[in-house]
Amino acid sequence: MKQAFFSEPLIFELGGRGRIGELIEDVKVEIPKELMREELNLPELSQIEVVRHFTRLSQMNWGVDLGPYPLGSCTMKYNPRINEDLAWLDEVQWLHPLQNEVQGILELMYKLEKILASITGMDRFTFQPAAGASGELTGCLIIRKYHKDRGENRDEIIVPDSAHGTNPASAAMAGFKIIEVRTNEEGQIDIEELKSAVGNRTAGLMMTNPNTLGIFEKQAKEISEIIHDAGGLMYYDGANLQGIIGFARPGDFGFDIVHLNLHKTFSTPHGGGGPGSGPVGVKKFLEEYLPIPIVDFNGEKYYLKWDLKKTIGKIKDWYGNIPVLVRAYAYLLSMGKEGLKLSCKAAVVNTNYFMKKVSKIKGITIPFGNSYRKHEVVISVENMAKETGVTAMDVAKALLDRGLHAPTIYFPLIVKEALMFEFTDTETKENIDKYIEALKEISELAYSNPELIKNAPINTSVSRLDEVYANHPKTMCLSYRMLKYKQ
Ligand SMILES: *Cc1c(COP(=O)(O)O)cnc(C)c1O
Repeated sequence: MKQAFFSEPLIFELGGRGRIGELIEDVKVEIPKELMREELNLPELSQIEVVRHFTRLSQMNWGVDLGPYPLGSCTMKYNPRINEDLAWLDEVQWLHPLQNEVQGILELMYKLEKILASITGMDRFTFQPAAGASGELTGCLIIRKYHKDRGENRDEIIVPDSAHGTNPASAAMAGFKIIEVRTNEEGQIDIEELKSAVGNRTAGLMMTNPNTLGIFEKQAKEISEIIHDAGGLMYYDGANLQGIIGFARPGDFGFDIVHLNLHKTFSTPHGGGGPGSGPVGVKKFLEEYLPIPIVDFNGEKYYLKWDLKKTIGKIKDWYGNIPVLVRAYAYLLSMGKEGLKLSCKAAVVNTNYFMKKVSKIKGITIPFGNSYRKHEVVISVENMAKETGVTAMDVAKALLDRGLHAPTIYFPLIVKEALMFEFTDTETKENIDKYIEALKEISELAYSNPELIKNAPINTSVSRLDEVYANHPKTMCLSYRMLKYKQ
């Protein structure tokens, strides 16, 4: 059934001369002659052809509305529809950024900031950064300016080897040299190695907690003391906040700067490349470094505050991606403190239930010990690969064949043949069980008839793609060659 989708023609190959979807009569449009085209080779289709075409395309797609989307490191949870409706209110959509005195939206930003501050233990936030990576760059530029203003020449940022790739990339963009520290056997930063990496050139340390293995870095406080004693600042990558939200605050275990990913933890759909938001929060002593303007309240009126003496300037035009803020605010109000704690617990229970079950499957191991995980877990099929030739990639493809979206694979880089699962708080036990059963079946086949797995997927619109070819700028082609249509 699914195979048939792909053999359907492209929209340019459909239709025929003179077919139309709608009759528009008596419309006179005056187009200057020099702008007129001789001909325009667009496909001509009837309404039903257009409707069927786009309906078919929508069914070839996968989304969290269809089933689990367990991409570790992404927190692809279900986003309540009500938040979507609020973000699309005319009052939000038709606001122009130059209407900078509108009280409603400023109040929303101010109050959202207060909630995020209480969740993270920070004092002030900027909403300008467009995503997590943009927040990291903002944070690194603040770290750079802070040291410069103090007349200190610090050009090194310490990043653990379990970090998301954006961490070293953002620090490098801000002009820092990256010093990598190793993860120890418990899946946490190796303190001894950290101590030897720290020095008078240390500008700061970037840390994700829980880290990308889903493990809580218990020594975060001790680490922040080491960094602070050396004169550096602590940066918290908040992409994994789901794992501790409501229970622990980065501000309490020594962090000076945090970013949050509103499109991960706080109810904005992502994965389709839509606008994100990576607000950056700082402790009081760094407030003056934030991008301008920030939102303030003078007791009567909300307003944009521009006079931050040490500001790094602007990181993005205007004030940030506003509809994302509306969703986050609505989500936070609807969840409340207890709701957020419950979401954290549900995510953690889901992860550990899954980990416990799959750890018994032949060929699957849980690297870095069996200690409890937070919101996500990384499993390894290194043994399966050695014994049967079936790799993490093959397992992921075989999951697709069973109607299940694959997890993140080959990340973090410190785990060989890694599959990184994050079911989030919104997934059901029944669906998690489907994954467990599928992994069992895949393992059995890997050890009995590996070719079946190596040839997966066969039930999807397309089978194995050449991923290098598809990503190469010279071969990637995202548009139809119109000339062909011309004949
Ligand atoms: C997603 C993620 C980032 C980057 O955030 P974007 O919003 O995608 O730019 C950084 N660190 C971790 C751990 C992440 O999971």
